[in-house]
Amino acid sequence: MGDRTRPPRGLLAPVTVAVPPGLVPEDDPRRGELRAWLADHPDPSPDDLAEAGLTAPAWPAPWGRDADALEQLLIDDELERAGVRRPSNPIGLGWAGPTILFAGTPAQQERWLPGLLRGTELWCQLFSEPDAGSDLAALRTTARRDGDEWVVTGQKVWTTYAHLARWGILLARTGEPPGRISYFVCPMDAPGVEIRALPDMTGLHAFNEVFLHEVRLPADHLLGDEGDGWRLAKVTLSNERTALSGEGVLWGRGPTAADLVALVRRLDAPVAPVLRDRLVQAWIHGEVLRLLRLGQLQAAVAGRPPGPEASLRKALADDHGQEVMNLSEDLAGTAGVLDGRGPGGVDGDLGDEWSFGFLYAPALTIGGGTFAVQRNIIAERILGLPPEPRAR
Ligand SMILES: Cc1cc2nc3c(=O)[nH]c(=O)nc-3n(C[C@H](O)[C@H](O)[C@H](O)COP(=O)(O)OP(=O)(O)OC[C@H]3O[C@@H](n4cnc5c(N)ncnc54)[C@H](O)[C@@H]3O)c2cc1C
Repeated sequence: MGDRTRPPRGLLAPVTVAVPPGLVPEDDPRRGELRAWLADHPDPSPDDLAEAGLTAPAWPAPWGRDADALEQLLIDDELERAGVRRPSNPIGLGWAGPTILFAGTPAQQERWLPGLLRGTELWCQLFSEPDAGSDLAALRTTARRDGDEWVVTGQKVWTTYAHLARWGILLARTGEPPGRISYFVCPMDAPGVEIRALPDMTGLHAFNEVFLHEVRLPADHLLGDEGDGWRLAKVTLSNERTALSGEGVLWGRGPTAADLVALVRRLDAPVAPVLRDRLVQAWIHGEVLRLLRLGQLQAAVAGRPPGPEASLRKALADDHGQEVMNLSEDLAGTAGVLDGRGPGGVDGDLGDEWSFGFLYAPALTIGGGTFAVQRNIIAERILGLPPEPRAR
């Protein structure tokens, strides 16, 4: 089992997201208050940030500041300018925390939210199973009630950071025979939790298989009502922060198409016309995505509910990420990317970022809903097309 206090590496590492210029007024009085706080806390600890409600500002007090979209962006902007990084707990802050706020009792919130906000207790998500990914409702893990405990048996897979996490949000079937889905919190060091590493081709160990052998959970590790887990899973999966992603092509991180253009311009190397054409296309797609993001942020700041842009943007951005990374490979030659020298094969240029991105990019159209699932959502919920045939 890994070091549970070490922040995770890789793409899910925390960020303050760069706020597009002009979106948040420079003269907003809340900036003064934040700057005064930052002057008193020039190098704020995770505890300082959590206590000031700056780790998850959108959450209600006392955990956050009930911040609206404008204030969230303003806080991101001030922290970014001050070079302050939030504690790292992506699955805790992004998925588990909002669900605990939604369905947890006050005692459960007191138990789990402080460590989650401080980043001292990392979280993972025990949802996917070998035969339940896109079709998550096909999951087979069970939780049997035995006195004051639940006894969990099953297998999960692709569990990011299971080896580092202190807690996992877990879906399992309850009842006799097991039927409806319930939502639990599982201590990752409980007897019977077996974690096996699944290193990926970037060389990172982020994924794991998790085997649950008769794992005993106290009764109060059930979140919400028994059998209400599917509704809570939807809360988990739909949760998105206002500024969830930046403009980088790897789920908001990493370099952009414009970075690739700048690199090619800087290297001033001859580029075959067909590659130049693809570079222009990639840059255009990058601009479309940048404007879509700006539109989303503007809508959030104006208090409008999120529209279909989020699904559209995810579908477009995943393909775009792969397009940019494949293009960087074609520009550099496979060897140039794989050995970390970057497009043009020149030492010191973007380097690792591009080679890592090229190897990571296939995940973009799988994680968070595959490309096919995204298109089904767009077809059915946005375009009103007939639903796909379902197995009976
Ligand atoms: C980077 C990354 C991190 C992840 N982290 C976690 C995690 O922490 N916890 C967790 O629980 N899971 C995690 N996952 C797993 C992820 O949720 C699943 O991989 C995803 O839901 C797809 O499920 P699957 O892999 O079982 O593929 P499947 O659902 O088996 O899909 C296989 C293929 O069939 C296609 N397909 C499936 N259904 C349809 C349909 N209805 N119509 C048309 N085509 C279809 C898919 O598009 C795909 O091409 C992670 C995945 C990635 C890539």
